[in-house]
Amino acid sequence: MAETEVQPLEINDALFCPHWKEVCTECPGFDTREENDAYLGWDPIDRQGIECEPAILTKDGTYQCKKHGTPSQLFPMPVSLQINIDISVDCNQCYNWKKILTRARAAAKKAGKK
Ligand SMILES: [Zn+2]
Ligand SMILES: [Zn+2]
Repeated sequence: MAETEVQPLEINDALFCPHWKEVCTECPGFDTREENDAYLGWDPIDRQGIECEPAILTKDGTYQCKKHGTPSQLFPMPVSLQINIDISVDCNQCYNWKKILTRARAAAKKAGKK
């Protein structure tokens, strides 16, 4: 696999490219499905890459998901413009990797049975 220069974002311990994807057409060679499955203690399988809800830095220095954050508290600075990002976001819906990845894996297994 080609070396990728992309610096991954670490969002609640899961890795994504700066476009908030596990597998990205704009970042050749970038693929963190294996890392993210392994983080939950699972064997990697061939599944669809998941996408992460974008997070935004707020005025008080914490991060919120764009979807459920309060717009008036948000900085106009996308996280993806920063480097070496390792953030935790307090949203149980958008960043519940166990739930999201369970769904992605179930879909892959179902598709594989055809
Ligand atoms: Zn990307
Ligand atoms: Zn959210």
